Amino acid sequence: MNISRIEHRPILMNDFSAESSELKDEMFRAVQKVVGSKCWILGQSVREFEAAWAAKCGVSYAVGVGNGMDAIELSLRALNIGPGDEVITTSVTAFATIAAILRTGATPVVADIEAETGCMSLMSAERCLSAATKALVLVHLYGRLNRTDEWVRFCERSGIYLIEDCAQAHGAIYDGRSAGSFGVVGAFSFYPTKNLGTVGDAGIVTTNDSRLAEQITVLRNYGQKSQYVHSDLGINSRLDELQASILSVRLRWLDAWNTRRKAILEFFYEYIDNKNLRLLSKPIDADMHVCHLFVVLTEDRDGLQNHLYSKSNIASLVHYPKAVHQQPVCEGIKIDPAGLPCAERHVEKCLSIPCHPNLSDDELERIVTSLNDYEL
Ligand SMILES: *Cc1c(COP(=O)(O)O)cnc(C)c1O
Repeated sequence: MNISRIEHRPILMNDFSAESSELKDEMFRAVQKVVGSKCWILGQSVREFEAAWAAKCGVSYAVGVGNGMDAIELSLRALNIGPGDEVITTSVTAFATIAAILRTGATPVVADIEAETGCMSLMSAERCLSAATKALVLVHLYGRLNRTDEWVRFCERSGIYLIEDCAQAHGAIYDGRSAGSFGVVGAFSFYPTKNLGTVGDAGIVTTNDSRLAEQITVLRNYGQKSQYVHSDLGINSRLDELQASILSVRLRWLDAWNTRRKAILEFFYEYIDNKNLRLLSKPIDADMHVCHLFVVLTEDRDGLQNHLYSKSNIASLVHYPKAVHQQPVCEGIKIDPAGLPCAERHVEKCLSIPCHPNLSDDELERIVTSLNDYEL
């Protein structure tokens, strides 16, 4: 056997092919059941997964939608947020967060981040408040529920809606409560690479408010209130039966995957030791961070990425290479009047290293060894 080839097997950011055959067989059976059924859109599989996801998050309702971006947009629209309203959110996030706000016609106002977590800064959000502020979209970045109780109080005090962008935080728990249960709504994506993902696009909105759940149910289906009666101008953003049935299967693995991700996070904090690298602050409680992404910061990010790849065949990605206000389409966007210096520094230095639950212990050691060997 050729040892060096084994040592240099690629370590990927995500590796679905490494999932167990037991899981794959269950997914195939779920697909077969849908294909053989009488209903392919908005049927039993969607209702079952909605109920299961609401229970998992500890909320009364969950409404399946087409993807995570629509989950945010439809939440805002169900809250009657649109032109003339301002929505505060963070400057370091997936672009979908901003696109969803823009699509409602509302004005996003972009806050800076905390250098130590990468998550939105409360002090900056405070500076973004105005008489027009209606809501705040709180992104649980990298899988971390950060200062969630403080954000809930901040939104209550300010008289604005709290919308959680939970696309990176499936199953994260803070103070005994799940991501998606703190805000008036929680928006989730099940894009394949998320902690709970499917084999295509899917999303869901969680809420305890029956009126909002009903309104989102109407809006996801062209604004159809009863058959062929359109009370609102909605969109087509339905969760389909195939994705829902696969999600019900994969949901049974989620806790085990998150347990593995949390162990990987612990391992990295224990063994990464290189003065040229900075880590984000370690979460005080293990369950509040489900390690969707593990980020290291360095002065020469491209150099580190190249070192990992060319010496050890380890993939990495940048989340995100630009802050929101640096995107061409966001020219002139409203930002914290004090500027966004922490976000601008973060996006130049951050690098996400593999932390998916199918990594073996040997692969984890290879990652740490390569990181510790890195010289500026
Ligand atoms: C993935 C992601 C989204 C968008 O989800 P899609 O299903 O791709 O539309 C939104 N916000 C954050 C923070 C994400 O990571």
